[in-house]
Amino acid sequence: MEGIGRHTLKCIECGSVYEPAPLIKCSECGGLLDIIVELPDRGLFSRLGLREMGVWRYREVLPVGDGAKVVSLGEGGTRLLKLEEEFTGELFIKLEGDNPTGSFKDRGMTVGVTKAVEFGYRKVACASTGNTSASLAAYAARGGLEAYVFIPKGGIARGKLFQALAYGANIVEVEGGFDDALERVLKYVEVEGDVLLLNSFNPYRLEGQKTLAYEVYEQLGGAPDYVFVPVGNAGNISAIYKGFRELRDIGLIDSAPIMVGVQASGAAPLANAFPHIERFSPVDEPRTLASAIRIGKPVNWRKAWRAVESSGGFFTSVEDAEILRAQMRLARKYGILVEPASAASYAGFLKHLDELDGRVVLVATGHGLKDPDVINHWSNLGII
Ligand SMILES: *Cc1c(COP(=O)(O)O)cnc(C)c1O
Ligand SMILES: [Zn+2]
Repeated sequence: MEGIGRHTLKCIECGSVYEPAPLIKCSECGGLLDIIVELPDRGLFSRLGLREMGVWRYREVLPVGDGAKVVSLGEGGTRLLKLEEEFTGELFIKLEGDNPTGSFKDRGMTVGVTKAVEFGYRKVACASTGNTSASLAAYAARGGLEAYVFIPKGGIARGKLFQALAYGANIVEVEGGFDDALERVLKYVEVEGDVLLLNSFNPYRLEGQKTLAYEVYEQLGGAPDYVFVPVGNAGNISAIYKGFRELRDIGLIDSAPIMVGVQASGAAPLANAFPHIERFSPVDEPRTLASAIRIGKPVNWRKAWRAVESSGGFFTSVEDAEILRAQMRLARKYGILVEPASAASYAGFLKHLDELDGRVVLVATGHGLKDPDVINHWSNLGII
């Protein structure tokens, strides 16, 4: 394939265009950046043939050149299972807990760390509610890099902290929540200068995450009508929508699905404001048991807002009790154990079930084994 991996970076606010570089925001206006790849023709999928499932199956749409040394653990290729639910459509769940470190973050990290190596970095860093640090730690180990992860002290699930420690990351605990950890890591990276920040405003990560759309397209033999995504920093919903938009631009589907972003009611700046963008304001002390989406200032909120709006979708919020009931129902009715944040998409589906038809896909973002302590909250709620 000629020209594979060719891309530019484009500011979503002012439209400035940059050549490939490790940028995390527009140097003109500070806006978020999108990666524009040269899309292949409609024949893409007929040429994939027996190529293995996973993120790198879709190399032709990733911003990584042919010669690059790919840092991979075999991410992507996750199960899409059907759920027998009583409503007028068909329901599917995409199990991102199947990824190497147990969350969708691996789809982004394989591309992010591959680019870190290509750009010549020896050190990578992130702020995290847990899964990003677990994933970064694993891919840094795989790629021979040093990882620095900044986490809210006492604010991440035990399984995730264990993973970051086990993979050998340097862990910095920060007083406060995720938003404070992010401020700290931004300063750290600025002072050090030779560390690549791999939070989700790094547009290369989102390129890996968009492959979920390509996979669902292949697994369903077309686009679904709705996609429900739990929203924290709002990178994943933006990335998945971008994937479907590309499938549309390639000419494989007529339109992208309706995107529904689900937040926890105590950490719901997007759902609180939608559809009035001028009403958006950060939540100062975000609260929810679903620690992976306990975020008050979603860094990608503008990207996600545009994605949801142009898909004809909406943001919604669910109470913690609804999240935990949905989590338990998935486990007991279907044999599927996901972490609380991931059950938010199912809780959102149950809340809006009467308004839906056609094919609905729930994104289950992370594995249930990450956060076994949640069992205490199940019993507090009297649901077990
Ligand atoms: C990171 C994460 C989210 C939130 O994704 P964003 O891209 O930050 O919106 C949701 N669920 C799980 C399990 C996560 O790890
Ligand atoms: Zn700009």
